[in-house]
Amino acid sequence: MSLYRDTGVVLRVQKLGEADRIITLLTRRHGKVRAVAKGVRRTTSRFGARLEPFGHVDAQFYTGRTLDVVTQVQTLDAFGAGLVADYSHYTAACAVLETADRLTLDEGEPVLRLYLLVVGALRALADRERDPSLVLDAFLLRAMAFAGWAPALAECARCGLPGPHRSFSVPAGGSVCPGCRPAGSAKPTHETLRLLDALLHGDWETAEAAGQPARREGSGLVAAHLQWHMERQLRSLPLVERRAVATGGRRPVDHVATGDRTPSADMV
Ligand SMILES: [Zn+2]
Repeated sequence: MSLYRDTGVVLRVQKLGEADRIITLLTRRHGKVRAVAKGVRRTTSRFGARLEPFGHVDAQFYTGRTLDVVTQVQTLDAFGAGLVADYSHYTAACAVLETADRLTLDEGEPVLRLYLLVVGALRALADRERDPSLVLDAFLLRAMAFAGWAPALAECARCGLPGPHRSFSVPAGGSVCPGCRPAGSAKPTHETLRLLDALLHGDWETAEAAGQPARREGSGLVAAHLQWHMERQLRSLPLVERRAVATGGRRPVDHVATGDRTPSADMV
């Protein structure tokens, strides 16, 4: 029996048999790990509650023939407690987990950078000090950079001509100069491109100075770019509630429920 220990974030849980669960974790050193947690659905389980989505845990596993098995779990951060109380923070966190899950197709491949991005995004969302929409977009831009397809923002995606440029084309890879601009390119404002650049580079002072129209436009471009590059569409993204900061309310600006499932449908 081979044992190993790692820290990880619980991305997803699925039922297995009468009392067990398969837990999918994004770990610091072993990449994505799918492991069986035995007996966790019994009320007497020692670690069932620690292995819920959003949980950041230190766990011990032993290597099984098909799936590894969780043998010990300690909670490092219970991010779920700070997330479930607010719908916009919760849906943004669901989108973080689902994006991380989809960006890591190969189990066992080390993805330290992505792991750190996920923990940072969940911590920021659970603290509830920043606009959840900005936190999500910052995470998505950096996750796309990790995957190798962040949108070009400062130069032309096709010829590299330094910008900023007025046009943005998702199929072309981001900002495009007048010479390279495909028909049907979007025309984001300079403020929107400045916002996206600030989010990509962690410049929160610039990002939080951006107005609501730029935040909305930026979120739309990030979502379009992400969806273009994902093999499958990110199911929870359309559910993300964009907070209307300008009115101080919580009016969902682009709250469009698609399909018949909630972001957590396969997490319970
Ligand atoms: Zn160009």
